[in-house]
Amino acid sequence: MPARVIPIADHRGSTRLPAVPAALRAPNGRLADTRGRALHDLRISVTDRCNFRCTYCMPKSVFDKDYRYLAHDELLSFEEIVRVAALFAAHGVSKVRLTGGEPLLRKNVEDLVAMLAALRDANGEPLDLTLTTNGALLPRKARALKAAGLKRLTVSLDSLDDAVFRAMNDVDFPVADVLAGIDAAEEAGFRDIKVNMVVKRGVNDADIVPMARRFKGSGRIVRFIEFMDVGSSNGWRMDDVVPSAEVVARIDAHLPLVEAAPNYTGEVAERWQYRDGTGEIGVISSVTQAFCGTCTRARLSTEGRLFTCLFAQSGHDLRALLRGGRSDAEIAAAIGLIWEARDDNYSEIRTAETARLRKIEMSYIGG
Ligand code: SAM
Ligand code: SF4
Ligand code: SF4
Repeated sequence: MPARVIPIADHRGSTRLPAVPAALRAPNGRLADTRGRALHDLRISVTDRCNFRCTYCMPKSVFDKDYRYLAHDELLSFEEIVRVAALFAAHGVSKVRLTGGEPLLRKNVEDLVAMLAALRDANGEPLDLTLTTNGALLPRKARALKAAGLKRLTVSLDSLDDAVFRAMNDVDFPVADVLAGIDAAEEAGFRDIKVNMVVKRGVNDADIVPMARRFKGSGRIVRFIEFMDVGSSNGWRMDDVVPSAEVVARIDAHLPLVEAAPNYTGEVAERWQYRDGTGEIGVISSVTQAFCGTCTRARLSTEGRLFTCLFAQSGHDLRALLRGGRSDAEIAAAIGLIWEARDDNYSEIRTAETARLRKIEMSYIGG
């Protein structure tokens, strides 16, 4: 299928002011897009800054001392984030993930967690509230996050080989300190901790089996993620991608696996259980097996733009509505219009050309 022609944008993408319909419809918790995909998940980027420079996400050549991060008053405040999240919850969102950049760098992020934990979804249930982190600040923050009501955590760790990991994060951060972060989270009471590993051929693929072995039987689920062409600065090439099928085959050769059913429709990771009953792994195949057909995720950028796809080139400026005196009903109606018009399917139409387009950086939109 030919790629749609999409205009070149700057690193944060172009922006559109959302239209607000004249006749306002109250959210009914069952919004669907042009392909019938519901709105279930909201990923909120709370900062565009990071203390790592992972080569596949924030390469130093781009994110150097001259890079212009957002100024404080450009970021959504906690109150603005919670106001938007509540409107998304009314539209059917039940799962909220805080991300970034590195979300634990956002000052007092635990206060935001507490505010979000007080929200209810369209069925009156608390939100499934989770956060993705590189783990560096977990020893300092885990207890406060748990106390604030964070339910689950995902910690990124790309290798157990110290030299490989230090080179990938490019700030010489040791493996032991991320493992200490995971331990701190466990001590703070987190039970559902996942470990994300982005796999890049020739860089860390030798770590696939050791990583599986290290966490097998620990209750921690490692999720192997195909290296993606997010943004436009990570030099993505198809040759660098290790297909999930190969990841599974490599692990299965040492630690036999059997495929497991998804926990729910639209689950991003495909599940594989160890045949000996000692746990499971997940694989996220955004490149080799597009899952756009069941994609129920919206993304709110650090400065309040709504993106309906990770690979979008433009976002909808909700901050302009928030700061422009618009009512909750108007903003909810605008969100509804945006989702109902959604037709994103980037992973289904990815080609070498689309990979070269200037898309939003992952650190800005959140993973
Ligand atoms: N800083 C936090 C962290 O690293 O966990 C949260 C933000 S990070 C952008 C979220 C997730 O996206 C991480 O697990 C990271 O490994 C993943 N990621 C970043 N760039 C990626 C890429 N090019 N391909 C696949 N996954 C990527
Ligand atoms: Fe930072 Fe996470 Fe991106 Fe690594 S993947 S540079 S830790 S935002
Ligand atoms: Fe969803 Fe876009 Fe990824 Fe497809 S490419 S699964 S629409 S985020």
